[in-house]
Parts: sequence; C-alpha cells; structure tokens
Amino acid sequence: MTIRVEHVSKRFNAFTALDDINLDVRNGELVALLGPSGSGKTTLLRVIAGLEVPDAGRVLFDGQDATTRKIQDRNVGFVFQHYALFRHMSIFENVAFGLRVRPRELRPDEAQIKARVDNLLKMVQLDWLGHRYPHQLSGGQRQRIALARALAIEPRVLLLDEPFGALDARVRKDLRRWLRRLHDDIKITSVFVTHDQEEALEVADRVVVFNHGRIEQVGKPDDVYDRPATPFVYEFLGHANRFAGQVHHGVGHFGGQSIALPELDDARNASATAFARPHEIDISRIPSEGVTAAKVEHSVKLGPVVRLDLSRIDNGQLIEAELSCDQFNLLDPQPGQIVYLAPRMVRVFLDAPVSVRMAA
Ligand code: ATP
Repeated sequence: MTIRVEHVSKRFNAFTALDDINLDVRNGELVALLGPSGSGKTTLLRVIAGLEVPDAGRVLFDGQDATTRKIQDRNVGFVFQHYALFRHMSIFENVAFGLRVRPRELRPDEAQIKARVDNLLKMVQLDWLGHRYPHQLSGGQRQRIALARALAIEPRVLLLDEPFGALDARVRKDLRRWLRRLHDDIKITSVFVTHDQEEALEVADRVVVFNHGRIEQVGKPDDVYDRPATPFVYEFLGHANRFAGQVHHGVGHFGGQSIALPELDDARNASATAFARPHEIDISRIPSEGVTAAKVEHSVKLGPVVRLDLSRIDNGQLIEAELSCDQFNLLDPQPGQIVYLAPRMVRVFLDAPVSVRMAA
C-alpha cells in the first residue's frame, strides 16, 4: 500500500500544527517522522490514521482518496507509546481481540484464530507468554504484544507513535533493531513517530524531518545526516559547533580558516555559518596556519570517546570536540592548556538559504 499526503494543513484554534505537508510513502517502506516536541509528527500520523480530519489537503491510500474514510475502513494497525493492552485479558486474547470483534461473516473460526495468534506470538518471539496477563510482562514485551495485536487484523498500513518512548535506553535499542528485522520480513508500509535521532537513522528506510509543522527534509538516513538541507536538520541530527563568518568570491572565512567554496563563487561578502560535528574536529598541541587557538576547559570520558570542552581564545566561544581514548591519551590535554583546532569537515550554509557541503 502506498500513502500520499497532499497539501495537508491542520490548525488547532489559532495554532498551525501542520502547514501544507506533502509526503509520499512507498509500498513496503518504513518511514520515520522525526522532529522536536510539538513539531506536528503525531498530528500527521493521526491524520493518516483517520483520527484527525485535516482542514485542507488529502490523504490517498494506493491512489484512492481516503481523507473522509472512517478509521475502521482504513485498515491501519496502530501502536501507541503506552501499551494499551486489556489488563483483564490474557496475552493470547489481547492479540486475538481484533479478530474476535470482526462482524460474524468476516470472523475467522476458533482454529484459524488460534493459528493466527500463535503465529503472531512466534513472530514477536513471545509464543511462550500467551497464557500470561499484561502485568506479568516487561515493558518491552508489552510493546511487542501491542505490535502483534496491531498486526492481527492484517492491516495494510502500520502506524507507530513513539512505540518505544516509555522504555529504558537499553530496551529501546534492542527493540528498534528487532523492529527493523521484523519489518524486513513482513514489509508492511509503516510510518513511525520518534523524536530520537538515533532511532530514526537506525530503523527507517527514509526519515522525514519536521520543524514547526513543516517538513524540512525527506531522505535516506545517510542523506539527511551527510547532506542536511538546512541548518535546522544539521543541528537536530547531532551536536554541532557553529562558526560565524563570510563567503566572498567562492572563499569562506571562518575564524582563522579560509575554505574554498567554489559552489558559492557568486557570493559577495555574504554572511554564512560553518558547522562541524565534535568528532570532525582535529586538535593539536602545535600551531599551524589557519588553526584556531582554544583553551582546554574540561574533559569527560563517555565510554569509548572523550568529550573535550574548549573555549576559543579570540572570542570565548565554546567548542565541543570528541576524541577517541587513544587520541586523547596522546594529546593529554590539561585544563587551562592552549591547543589548536581545525575542523576536518564543515558544512556551510549561507545565512540566506543556499547550502553546500564540502571537505575542508
Ligand atoms: P511530541 O513529540 O511532543 O508528541 P509532536 O511533534 O508529535 O510532538 P503533535 O502532537 O503533532 O507534535 O502536536 C503539534 C502541536 O499541535 C503541539 O503544539 C500540540 O500542542 C498541538 N496540538 C496537538 N493536538 C491538539 C489538540 N487536539 N488541540 C490543541 N492543540 C493540539
């Protein structure tokens, strides 16, 4: 099943939650809606589900206008953040529920229900828990059951709203890998909402980055990470150091550094910002041309890497760098010491909206 969202807008009183959204989800694709809190992700998911009616625009399933189709006629499976399992029903009955409430003429017989539920419980790798009740399961297990229950009705589309949001970091990581593998097996068109960048980049075929009710960028995980279309996308997808500067005749000037930007040959004294990720910054004890001098403020070991907080000598700006433990031990930076930094890779955005990507 394909999903097409066409010029969808949605307001809540004076507040615009969705502003002219256009999106195509391909058949069998797993798409993540990613963005900060309040950016409109859940509202779009609810519009696709039929839980919310848009003020303008259309939603098409397989090319057919579904905008006014009721939720029960859309054939969507829904998984929410808070596992809404029925407490008084066994796990088996929870999964069977969607089949048992079907109209008589569409309801499978008991043997078919049993076969289907057993199959789904196997698929979510919890077939040994069918007789238990929800309170006897862990949070991660309950979410897997919620997914099995959503799949029981053989939906044509699966919608997941922060499905792992309430779980601890370790379980989230396990479950997102598990979801990716499961999706590779069942290939059902799926849209899931998350505000967790890592989760979206790891799980999704494509990522849709939201900001204030609008889409900033749609792309494969590598595209949005390596070729962010806007400063917002760059900054939302990971830690970012900003260097304010100017671009003139295809050369960028940021702090002490000059960077060739042939794509911006037409720019004349255009103000611009260069962005560099903490792990893309080289640090040396020895000065050389074009490097920026900075004072070591603080370092903190985060598992296999060390984060170094530095302050620029020329303007006091704080810079965050990330080194491997080996690099850190070699450099052996002490608080108060002066070091010299040079970004290995920057992305430059003119403060007017044109962007390029380049290696320094
Ligand atoms: P989160 O990650 O926090 O769930 P989100 O990106 O999913 O955020 P939405 O839930 O889509 O955001 O909400 C977008 C905006 O619309 C928010 O500012 C929210 O307060 C507002 N909003 C959503 N539903 C309603 C409603 N029924 N009535 C009024 N405002 C609403």
